[in-house]
Amino acid sequence: MTRRYVVRTYGCQMNEHDSERIAGVLEADGLVPAVTEADADVVVLNTCCIRENADNKLYGNLGHLKTWKDGRDGRQIVVAGCLSQKDRDGVSRRAPWVDVVLGTHNVHRTAELVDHARRHGPITEILDESVVDDHALFPSALPARREHDYTAWVTIQIGCDNACAFCIVPAVRGAEASRPLADVIAEIEALAADGVTEVTLLGQNVNSYGRDLARTARRAGDEVQLRPMFAELLAAAAAVPGIRRVRFTSPHPKDMRTETFQAMATSPGVCRHLHSPLQSGSDRILAAMHRGYTAARYLDRLGEARRLVDDLAVSTDIIVGFPGETDDDFAATLEVAAAAEYDYAYTFVFSPRPGTEAAALTDRFVDPAVTAERFQRLRVVVERSALAKHRARIGRIEEVLVEGPSKKDPGIVSARTGQNKLVHFAAAEPLRPGTYVTVEIIGAAPHHLTGRFEAVVALPRHRRRIPVLSG
Ligand code: SF4
Repeated sequence: MTRRYVVRTYGCQMNEHDSERIAGVLEADGLVPAVTEADADVVVLNTCCIRENADNKLYGNLGHLKTWKDGRDGRQIVVAGCLSQKDRDGVSRRAPWVDVVLGTHNVHRTAELVDHARRHGPITEILDESVVDDHALFPSALPARREHDYTAWVTIQIGCDNACAFCIVPAVRGAEASRPLADVIAEIEALAADGVTEVTLLGQNVNSYGRDLARTARRAGDEVQLRPMFAELLAAAAAVPGIRRVRFTSPHPKDMRTETFQAMATSPGVCRHLHSPLQSGSDRILAAMHRGYTAARYLDRLGEARRLVDDLAVSTDIIVGFPGETDDDFAATLEVAAAAEYDYAYTFVFSPRPGTEAAALTDRFVDPAVTAERFQRLRVVVERSALAKHRARIGRIEEVLVEGPSKKDPGIVSARTGQNKLVHFAAAEPLRPGTYVTVEIIGAAPHHLTGRFEAVVALPRHRRRIPVLSG
C-alpha cells in the first residue's frame, strides 16, 4: 500500500531546505505526499531550537500527534532538525511514542530510519557531524522535493565557526564546512535545466565560504588550490545560463569583503539586497556577544557596500534585551539603526537558549517590561526608515517575480523585486508563479509596495518536476 507523508517545518531557510530533502528521500523510497495529516502514515516534524518556546511547541505537538498515531495502525512520527540534535535521547524519553529521532547531520538517512523503526521499533540516531566519505563532508547529493518550481535553495556551507553568545547554531549544526564550488555550480546548472530561474545560496555564514576547503585539502595531502572565495561563487552562480536571480543568506558583518560587494556590483544576476545582521549598536554588547566587529566598523562596511553596489537594499537582525544591556547600550542601538537606514529589520527580544553562554548570565537578564518598551521604540525607528525607503521607490518601473495570489486578497498578485521587496498589484491577465513582469510602483507601506502592471517580461520555464539532487 503506498504510504503517505507530511513534513512540518519550523525555523529558518536551512530547515526549509532540509525539509525539501527529507521529502525527496522519502519519495525516493516510494512514499507520496499526503494532502493532510488525516490521510498521512508518516508525519515528520523538522524542528528549530532558536527560540525559547520551541521546546514547549514541540512537546505540545507530540502530545497531539500521539492521538493521531493511535488513530490507525502503522502510523509513524519522526522528529528531525535542530531541537532533536540538541535534545538527543531526551526526545524519546519525553515522548516514547515517537518512532524516529534524527538530527541535522543525517537527513539522508530519514527513509532508512523510518523503515528500520517499522521493523525493529523506535530508533534515535544523532550524528555529531555530517560525515559520508573521506573528503566531502556533505551527504552525497540528495533528491529534493522543492516547494516551488521556479526558485530553489542551494546549500553552499553547513555549520558555523563563530561563537555568538546567544546562538545555539554551532552546537546543533557543527563546524563550518563549505561545499566544493564545482558541486554547487553543477547543482545550479541542473536546477536551471529544470526551469529554476532564481537560486538562494544558503549557509550560516556565507561570506566565509571556502575558508575550510584549503584546510581540508591540506589535511588530505591534496594539491592545495587557492581557496574559492564567496565573490567567485556569486559570480559563477550568476553566470549559469537560465539563472536570472541569485540571492544569498546569511552573511556575517565581520567577514564582509570588498570583493563580495564588487561581485554584487558587476554580476547583473546577483540581487541588489544585502542582509547584514547588526544584533546590537553598542560596542560593549557586541563584545559580550562575541560578534567580532564594532558599530563604527559595521557602518563603515555598510557605507562601502552602498558606494560599490548601486541601489542596494539592506536588511538586518537586531536583538533587544541582551543580558546586561543598559539604557546607554540601547540608545547606541537606536542610533546605529537610524544611521543605517534599513530597508527592513527583523527585531527580536533576547531569548535565553539552554546551552548558550548568554543563557547562563541570569543575574544580568533585563526586566521584560524594560525590554518590551525598548522593542517598541526600536520598531518605530526601523519602520520609519523602511517606509522612507519604500516611498522613494514610487514612480519607478521594477521587474518583479510573481509568487502567487496575495494571502490577504486572491484577486491581487504578490511578487518580489530584486531587492526582495514585496509588491502587490492587480493583473490584467492570469500570471503563473515564476513569471517575471514589470510594474510601476504607485504606493508604499512599511512592509510592502503597491504597483501597476506594465508587461510580462519572461514566462516560467519550468517543465516536469524532476527531483534535482541537492547537496
Ligand atoms: S554567526 Fe553567530 S548568530 Fe550566526 S549562526 Fe554563527 S554563531 Fe549563530
